[in-house]
Amino acid sequence: MGKKLGKGCDFKSFMKKNWLLISTVVAVVLGIGLGLLVREYASLSTLDKIYFAFLGEVLMRMLKLVILPLIVSSMITGVAALDPGSSGKIGLRAIVYYLSTTIIAVILGIVLVMVIKPGISQNANDIDRTGNTPDVTTADAMLDLIRNMFPENLVQACFQQYKTKRVEVVPESKPGNNTTATPTVTALMTTLSPMNRSKEYTIQGAYSDGINVLGLVVFCLVFGVVIGQMGEKGQILMEFFDALNEATMRIVKIIMCYMPFGITFLIAGKIIEVEDWELFKKLGLYMATVLTGLAIHGIIILPLIYFIIVRKNPFTYVIGMAEALLTALMISSSSATLPVTFKCAEENNRVDKRITRFVLPVGATINMDGTALYEAVAAIFIAQLNDYPLDVGQIITISVTSTAASIGAAGVPQAGLVTMVIVLTAVGLPADDVTLILAVDWLLDRFRTMVNVLGDGVGAGVVESLSKKELQQMDLSAEENIVNPFALECKLSDTEDQESKKSYINGGFAVDKTDSISYTQTSQF
Ligand code: ASP
Repeated sequence: MGKKLGKGCDFKSFMKKNWLLISTVVAVVLGIGLGLLVREYASLSTLDKIYFAFLGEVLMRMLKLVILPLIVSSMITGVAALDPGSSGKIGLRAIVYYLSTTIIAVILGIVLVMVIKPGISQNANDIDRTGNTPDVTTADAMLDLIRNMFPENLVQACFQQYKTKRVEVVPESKPGNNTTATPTVTALMTTLSPMNRSKEYTIQGAYSDGINVLGLVVFCLVFGVVIGQMGEKGQILMEFFDALNEATMRIVKIIMCYMPFGITFLIAGKIIEVEDWELFKKLGLYMATVLTGLAIHGIIILPLIYFIIVRKNPFTYVIGMAEALLTALMISSSSATLPVTFKCAEENNRVDKRITRFVLPVGATINMDGTALYEAVAAIFIAQLNDYPLDVGQIITISVTSTAASIGAAGVPQAGLVTMVIVLTAVGLPADDVTLILAVDWLLDRFRTMVNVLGDGVGAGVVESLSKKELQQMDLSAEENIVNPFALECKLSDTEDQESKKSYINGGFAVDKTDSISYTQTSQF
């Protein structure tokens, strides 16, 4: 009887702990079933299909809604909570982790595509083209990345990003006829490509819709460092952003309750929307190559790195990230998955908030292992389709540009396909050939986004483990610096949760691993 009760309790506590993950998995299965049923038995018009996926659309909107307050508040409080010396070291570790895992992913992709040779038995003409080639120029794309790091207007950066537009300058036909008067920023003689040598272009500043995450991350990084050094004057801002972060995470929890419904309709909507599954057959081997690479990277390489550095079971950690991985698979956006990534890393995997708040937003913006692997495979696949032999130099160029293109890709659906043009043009392949792989990109995008999110999650665990010494030192020096322990005691007895008494005391504010960073006024300032 007692045993039975024990089992019942075990089951109950298991369900209580994992209800969200279980209901998300059930939602995926239901969504696939519903999608297949509707596809088989109902004939919906384009408009009906849009209405059908409405509940899924609402989920996407909710997740996008919290990105802005989450990135701003977590980056600022995360950086402000670290002392300047430690934040440099932790930042460097994160960058080394991002770069090395991205390069490993690219090498893995190149080895697989060279071994499997998915494009050798086919020709570019065998495959149907879909969609249009994205309008991207390598030099402009790289410069735009830097321009977007420094937005000229912070408010505008919350909803728009800069995108260069090249405009051809039409030579003046008659004296006095001012046909070349365009709203130009810079004149550019196009000596860049031999093809365009006779034409002259100007660059026109334009903005496109979408949050400029990179610009916000850079601004918040600097802002966080500055207010962290301002002492008492900066404290009010720290408290404000910390409260904002706490409130946003509470909203995330509410959104998560809606998630299973949204996911069911998101996936069902996608299944009924796909027009031609036949196209998939022709690209089967290419898809298998990308998916094998992503699987090896996600199931073997990243867990191995985690195990070597952290010395803990990596699969327990990966299971802790499961909700975020499923969300990424469903919505193909690492930025929109960020709220769920935070929840998984902090609540399920108990990663120190001083690390997650810093490592996760930066990771979601620049660390994209899945995208890098995909870009390398796709470029070499297109070369194989065109019987275009690649020498060692070109393969190295593909590795470097794929890494750069993945850093430059935004964490939004199919961003990797746009930056793919950079990789293709770098080795002289036709940019138009992205239209060959467009038909299956929406599916591969889901899986590569999943690996991107896993890379960020594992990165938080790895950087935390490598930074243990700095984190402990910060705790210790903070304890020593507390001149007025009464203030701290007041703060702790205020909290509802007695667990927070185990908080880490840090530079005048108590950092609680399980809750938010609570700033405590001390006479230190
Ligand atoms: N969708 C991917 C992401 O959000 C980017 C891409 O590879 O297209 O991480």
